[in-house]
Parts: sequence; C-alpha cells; structure tokens
Amino acid sequence: MRFSLVLRFSILCILGLALSVPSNAQSRNPIYWDVHDSTRAHPPVVEPGPAPAEPQSPPSDATVLFGGETLDGWEHPDGSAASWVVENGYMQVKPGSGSIQTKEEFGSVQLHVEWMVPSSVEGEGQDRGNSGVFLMSNYEVQVLDSHENQTYADGQAAAIYGQYPPLVNAMRPQGEWQVYDIVFHRPHFDGNGTVITPATFTVYHNGVLVQDHVELTGPTAWKDRPPYEAHASELPIQLQDHDHPVRFRNIWLRELE
Ligand code: MG
Repeated sequence: MRFSLVLRFSILCILGLALSVPSNAQSRNPIYWDVHDSTRAHPPVVEPGPAPAEPQSPPSDATVLFGGETLDGWEHPDGSAASWVVENGYMQVKPGSGSIQTKEEFGSVQLHVEWMVPSSVEGEGQDRGNSGVFLMSNYEVQVLDSHENQTYADGQAAAIYGQYPPLVNAMRPQGEWQVYDIVFHRPHFDGNGTVITPATFTVYHNGVLVQDHVELTGPTAWKDRPPYEAHASELPIQLQDHDHPVRFRNIWLRELE
C-alpha cells in the first residue's frame, strides 16, 4: 500500500516534469522564450564548404532582383532612388541612407541572396556586419557577422530575428561570400483580419539547413513579438541599412503558389 502511494507520487512528479520542460522540438518554439533571451543556447558551429568564387547562375524561370549592374529594381521606402553603392558586381549598404526595397511586390517565394560582411572586424554583437533580408517588409532573416561573434541566439546570422535561432551556425569568415536560400510562405488572413495560416520560413545558410519550416508568431521586431496585422498578399522585399557596409550580390527569386 505504502509502496503504491510512493509509486503513484513518483509517476505524478515525472508527468509534471514532462509537461513543464519543453521537449527538443518544443524548445525551438518562441513561446518558451522571451525575445532575445540571453539564456537561450547558441547553436553549434558547423563549417560549410568553401564560398563560391563566382555567383551561382539563377535558374531559367527566376526573376533576377539584382544581377550586379544596377539598382533599377530597387528604391528607398519613401520612393526615392536607391542610393547604395554598386561596384564590381555587388551592391553595398550606404550607412545612413536607409533600407532599400524592391519596386515589385511579392508574396510566397524561393529567394536566393548572397552577402558578405566586411573583412575588417569592427564592433561586436549586433554592432558588427548587421543587415537583414525582410520578406514582405515584415519578416526578417537576420544578416550579421556571426563568425566568432556572440550575440543573443535569436539575433545571430540566419536567425528569424527575435523568434528562432538557426539550427547551426554555418557562417563563413569575414570577407567571404555567404549564401542564403530561403523558402518563404506568406501568412493568410480571413475577412476579419485574423491570421489563419502563419508565415513560415525554411532557410539554408551556405547549403546547410538552418531553419526547418518554422512558423512565425507575427512580424519580427527588436525586443518585441508583435502580433500579426492583416496586410496585402504581396509586399516589397527589403534589405536593411543597419549602419554597416554589408554587400549583396546575385539576388533572384521564384514565385510560389
Ligand atoms: Mg538586422
């Protein structure tokens, strides 16, 4: 009798623990973490293969957003001409000029972006090689110098900013080209503006899976997890000016749906 009471008590304790401690799959879910939670574990470092010497050719059905020559397809959000530097086949953030965005608008896409952080290492944490790729102007895949540079896990390179750290850190060293291959599915809203299917991201960083079909809690933001607000089914893709001379090249997409 006494033994069975102890046994029952033990089973209850184990059940309680199982319910309160997130499993491995759950532990990635932002609902278990504060935004930029400093206790969130940093993902393991994985060395990807070498950087491609030349930009990889887009597939035949791709829409080229930046082929290395001109920013004709881009503008600042206020509609003024994109003033970032274009040279040697890449564009470079002009610090202080503001973010730029595509003139065309897109919803769900497969997006290829190559980027490089400065080879001269300056600053630390978020203040080193920071930029970002914003799908639909609202949902950021973080661009950062995450080579031997620690910051909060949900803000390092290839994080879905403020929500999901990458599965691994597949960053090449400073001054080498990095490659993002992103599959983004837009959120859907009902007639009342309530989200019915959330936005999702799958991301490869230098060919390594870093986001595996994660569901967003809403737009990405600094120190905040704002809820979804209904928006158009197509919006511009933005590249962030975070005051660092980050370079981009070979940007193309394939529309989905
Ligand atoms: Mg950023």
